Amino acid sequence: MTPEKLHAILYKFAESQGICLNNDKPFVMNIIAGLLANESRYGYRSCPCRLASALKEQDMDIICPCAYRDADMKDYGSCFCALYVSNDWNDGKIERKQVPERRPLEKRLL
Ligand code: SF4
Repeated sequence: MTPEKLHAILYKFAESQGICLNNDKPFVMNIIAGLLANESRYGYRSCPCRLASALKEQDMDIICPCAYRDADMKDYGSCFCALYVSNDWNDGKIERKQVPERRPLEKRLL
């Protein structure tokens, strides 16, 4: 899978859900590089903004799109990494804030 191919897939996937990819393409390509690196490292596309355990069953909640994406999109207009965003977020119609980590403390590797 090339980064460009994954970008095209995720772009269509986001569109099919009525949301978007961040319109900052270089930023998105960095996130995609992280997803692909994690896939090659762990065998699954864990969130590039979080530390994975390397155990799929422990990381199911942070396999992209993570279990926290929809709640983060609802409250902030973007996911934790700002890969997935709303149309309004992309259009600058809502304030862009740092999305707080929603993953429970006990699941995080500190
Ligand atoms: S925060 Fe965004 S990029 Fe990270 S796993 Fe969730 S949906 Fe994917």
